Amino acid sequence: MNIDMSGRTVLVTGSTSGIGQAIATAFARAGADVVVNGRSRQRVDDTVEAIREETGGTVRGAAADVSTSEGADSLIDQVPDADVLVNNAGIFSAAPVFEIPDAEWSRFFEVNVLSGVRLARHYTPRMVRRGWGRVIFISSESSIFIPTEMVHYGMTKTAQLSVARGMAQEVAATGVTVNSVLPGPTLTPGVEEFIRDRIGPDVPFHEAERRFIAEERPSSLLGRLIRPEEVANLALYTGSDAGAATSGAALRVDGGVAPALA
Ligand code: NAD
Repeated sequence: MNIDMSGRTVLVTGSTSGIGQAIATAFARAGADVVVNGRSRQRVDDTVEAIREETGGTVRGAAADVSTSEGADSLIDQVPDADVLVNNAGIFSAAPVFEIPDAEWSRFFEVNVLSGVRLARHYTPRMVRRGWGRVIFISSESSIFIPTEMVHYGMTKTAQLSVARGMAQEVAATGVTVNSVLPGPTLTPGVEEFIRDRIGPDVPFHEAERRFIAEERPSSLLGRLIRPEEVANLALYTGSDAGAATSGAALRVDGGVAPALA
């Protein structure tokens, strides 16, 4: 399958590291005009440079904190229009469910859910008017397989599925699709640190990875962490012409961790 994104502007939130950076890189390699977003101007500039060097593509940056309405407005000022919106920015942390205060529930909702809702509210109607567009929410297998140690995170990831499905219904038959992509445990810098902490800093990482999956994610059918590029492959397909018949879906790239049939 040849995916050609030339002529399309693709905005990926939280793309200065991890999965977001891999998605921005994949779209740049496919010929899209890519916008990298993160909170720090310096990290945005560095990432733009790195992706340009790696792909030779057209990449620019827009620094903004997407977790606030002011930040969303600032991003929209810098990037008034997009053909593909990837709502990737997100946070996670472990906490016992009965000890999570109100403010933390609200913060997780603001960063992981409302950020994407605000941006979709701006960009999607414009896509509909042009008759083509793609909105992708980067959710998680934690949306359907709630982690006991991160219920507040799971709550936000489930909410993204509802939002994406509802928006897809709203834009039915317009040429615009809205989907969620559900990665499983993926080797990003944050996850690497988390595993090193849990398994022990002296264990070689490939052994720590094997033990983490075997002991803490035993339902994985992959037997290793997913690579960010593997998540990016599904996001790229979903954001392309080839993905036109996929809308309102929750698409798993979780290595089979979630023991679900569909
Ligand atoms: P990461 O921490 O490596 O990257 C997150 C990015 O978002 C960073 O660039 C960060 O600067 C940015 N960001 C965070 N808050 C922001 C804000 N308010 N405004 C703008 N940018 C902001 O994370 P990751 O592991 O690559 O995760 C990316 C997405 O994938 C998240 O939504 C996460 O829930 C989801 N996910 C990750 C995994 C995994 O195992 N890594 C698994 C399932 C789902």
